Amino acid sequence: MKRIALLGSTGSIGTQTLDVVRHYPEDFQVTALAASSNIEMLEKQIREFKPKMAVVYNEAKAAELKLRVRDLEIDILSGMDGLLAAATEASADIVLTAVVGMIGIRPTIAAIEAGKDIALANKETLVTAGHLIMPLAKEKGVKILPVDSEHSAIFQSLQGENRGQIHKILLTASGGPFRGKTLEDMRNVRVEDALRHPNWVMGRKITIDSATMVNKGLEVIEARWLFNVGLDKIQVVVHPESVIHSMVEFDDSAVIGQLGTPDMRLPIQYALFYPDRKPLHGEWLDLFALGTLHFEKPDLEVFRGLKLAYEALETGGSMTTVFNAANERAVAKFLDRKIQFLDIPEIIGEAMEKHTAITSPSLEQILDTEAATYEFIESRW
Ligand code: NDP
Ligand code: MG
Repeated sequence: MKRIALLGSTGSIGTQTLDVVRHYPEDFQVTALAASSNIEMLEKQIREFKPKMAVVYNEAKAAELKLRVRDLEIDILSGMDGLLAAATEASADIVLTAVVGMIGIRPTIAAIEAGKDIALANKETLVTAGHLIMPLAKEKGVKILPVDSEHSAIFQSLQGENRGQIHKILLTASGGPFRGKTLEDMRNVRVEDALRHPNWVMGRKITIDSATMVNKGLEVIEARWLFNVGLDKIQVVVHPESVIHSMVEFDDSAVIGQLGTPDMRLPIQYALFYPDRKPLHGEWLDLFALGTLHFEKPDLEVFRGLKLAYEALETGGSMTTVFNAANERAVAKFLDRKIQFLDIPEIIGEAMEKHTAITSPSLEQILDTEAATYEFIESRW
């Protein structure tokens, strides 16, 4: 029996995680659930999974939820203190981080300090604080188990292998809804167009990140920290079918990869059951129905967001925080229809240009860099 604290339970990853738990009631118990404001869904989840604790980041909504569940024995908390409490609550064995954005940094660090294993979906945390999180996890002897499908595939491909013999990580990308388009084609894309991902149904922010390919940029940085490899060893491969979830090429030229249907429940349950494997309650891969697979080089001129990620990683230090924070704010503005689609990489590029990187920033410096990036964007856009 594994006890799970789930941060971001009402989102795309959160609900799919609870679906895995639902299929394996003997194996898991939910200790804590956390969301931002969706108390309708959270109440249903509380009644089904019976955690000891639930957190609603929004204080007023937390008070409302408290009233709704007053017939139950449960602690309802709010704000960052609530998230930190859910992440460190004594009975949990593993914390699955499925909040969106760098709000996940402090809870993730607190969970590691409390000795919890981490099933990590919240990539923005590793992108901005990987240099703090990976050594801390090592020091505390906790596992960081990737939930992101590509990183799960890489992790699976590395089982039993010598990590010193990685020649290249082949990080696959669907290419998103605008694969093959020109900059001119993308000038006037609407929010609805960008939200239409060809293969995956995900939260709104990551869906936009997939359309700009910033998501793949975040994943390059995520891979750098998870697998401790240099920038020159991470190759993005556009693979529109999203069947090969990523591969590792080893020093003897052998390439090992993981294939599967595009269903996030597989990487979620791999992280939760690791190192065991249990049947996926979903569609399985049918190679005969599939027939062929395709591969292309990414176009870094059209998808400038990916190029900027490589530049941010090359500069290092606080520059990846600027890349991430500028993207978070720009995506929010695009979803609010305040800016155009192509303004997203423009804003990231400008914010990076203005910033002088701090080498190996502390947590405070990361959060200050985030705030300064937001301020800069508000003053310019
Ligand atoms: P969603 O937008 O669907 O869900 C986000 C979740 O986080 C919701 O439960 C939301 O609550 C909660 N949340 C947001 N802000 C806060 C906060 N301040 N405090 C507490 N909870 C908060 O996102 P996804 O599930 O798509 O993505 C989650 C993370 O996983 C992201 O980092 C993403 O990059 C990563 N990821 C997602 C994949 C996917 O297939 N969706 C694939 C690989 C990685 P509420 O509902 O109340 O707003
Ligand atoms: Mg991914």
